[in-house]
Amino acid sequence: MEKDVTMMTQSTQPQAKLYMRHIEQIDNHNFQITWSDNTVVSYRLSDLQRKCPCAHCVDESTGKRRMLPSAVDENVTALKISNVGRYGLKIIFTSGCSTGIYSYQMLLPQKSIKPVPQEIFLER
Ligand SMILES: [Zn+2]
Repeated sequence: MEKDVTMMTQSTQPQAKLYMRHIEQIDNHNFQITWSDNTVVSYRLSDLQRKCPCAHCVDESTGKRRMLPSAVDENVTALKISNVGRYGLKIIFTSGCSTGIYSYQMLLPQKSIKPVPQEIFLER
């Protein structure tokens, strides 16, 4: 007797962890991230600064944006872009913002990434 077991064996596959494979600067205002699933996305620094999550741009208690998008210089550049753990990107802008962390969810909103549990390394 045949039984359809596909329903029963269907496992909830854990979502593959997405991480940045490669960050490449295109020019002074644009850079490109190659994600671990080979998606390549280009970012313009001014676009990202408009979404900057730092305390200078967003009121920490109300969550309201203090920095108007129109106040962001279209030609803003960055001193440094670095990976933060396995969950975000930190950008040190020439115009002041430096503490905001761009999470993977912010960088890839179209992918509706489930939050990846932050890898915690315990020190002994
Ligand atoms: Zn900011």
